[in-house]
Amino acid sequence: MSRSSQQAPAVRSYRRAFVVLGILCLGLFGAATAYLLRDTSLGAPAGDALVAVASTAPPMVADAGVPSVPSATSGASPIQTPRPTRTALPTATSTTTRRAASARTLRPPPRYTPSPTAAPSPTSVALPPAATGAANRMVIGNSVLGRPLEVTQFGNGPLELMIIAGIHGGTEVNTIELADQLGEYLSSHPEIVPPNVTLWMLRALNPDGEAKGRVWSARGNENGVDLNRNFPALWEADWDRGGCWDYMRLTSGPEPGSEPETQALMRFLLTHHVDALINYHSSALGIFAGGQPPDPESSRLAQRIGDISEYPYPPIDTGCSYSGQLIDWASDHGIAAIDVELSNELDTDFEQNLAILAAFLAWQPERQ
Ligand SMILES: [Zn+2]
Repeated sequence: MSRSSQQAPAVRSYRRAFVVLGILCLGLFGAATAYLLRDTSLGAPAGDALVAVASTAPPMVADAGVPSVPSATSGASPIQTPRPTRTALPTATSTTTRRAASARTLRPPPRYTPSPTAAPSPTSVALPPAATGAANRMVIGNSVLGRPLEVTQFGNGPLELMIIAGIHGGTEVNTIELADQLGEYLSSHPEIVPPNVTLWMLRALNPDGEAKGRVWSARGNENGVDLNRNFPALWEADWDRGGCWDYMRLTSGPEPGSEPETQALMRFLLTHHVDALINYHSSALGIFAGGQPPDPESSRLAQRIGDISEYPYPPIDTGCSYSGQLIDWASDHGIAAIDVELSNELDTDFEQNLAILAAFLAWQPERQ
């Protein structure tokens, strides 16, 4: 018998075994692919949801941008064309995504007990000192949903200055982030506050809006009121929206000073005889002085801050006519008051605002 005739049955059985193995491998490969696809569809909802939010959110605009005609993206429905993958996102969108992610990390609201009938307490409630420094913290009132309005004190001098951020909630969350950064800096550098100065920092006047994140409704408080139209100064029941922020219908409240956030801040400013304040907004319009026409002390402060920063003063005029504003009410009460708008809706412009902080701390009022 030749070797070939002896080997023929063995070769056939090898071939059979090879074919069977091949079929098994294909089956395994198919099963593994199906499993992986299923896993992908379940595995990334959190991150993708953030991207979806970011990609459907229209770019946030300034207080008084040019928003009468929302941009093309602002009308985008939540149902979008396929999302680009994370790595394919252009820089700007990546930033937005990061911002959305950071907004996501805001503390989830604890279960607050809504207290619509409870008037804010007339006196401030002291809190234990912040862990980061010796700064005093106090609660000066509560939001509509009962979130505390927290003020931090730096220094203890007779000249009282105040920084207020987050009046427009989640739509201007970078102002709140800036207040937090400045607060951390002040806690670790308390010596920058001159002996004659007390600086008060209210990081979020609209914490209910902050908790909503970067959505248009987060500009108003829980009652749908734009707090910066609610102060009893040039207050109007409604206003001409031409040239003004108008992405959704917010109100000025049923009457001047109707909102608990507005009341708490007014009470604090008058109780402490605050001499000057900066109210942070975003974005891009520059520096506004309190008063219409601008009050002299507010103008002088605005000019000083304009001189040492890149924010323009006088500000950009979009044709918006402003009613019920904090700075107008404050200037009516002898407070040098300005709005400072950050350069965009994402950045805190920290270095620039550290310089502004130094200039503000050196502020010398001329008004008695
Ligand atoms: Zn604003």
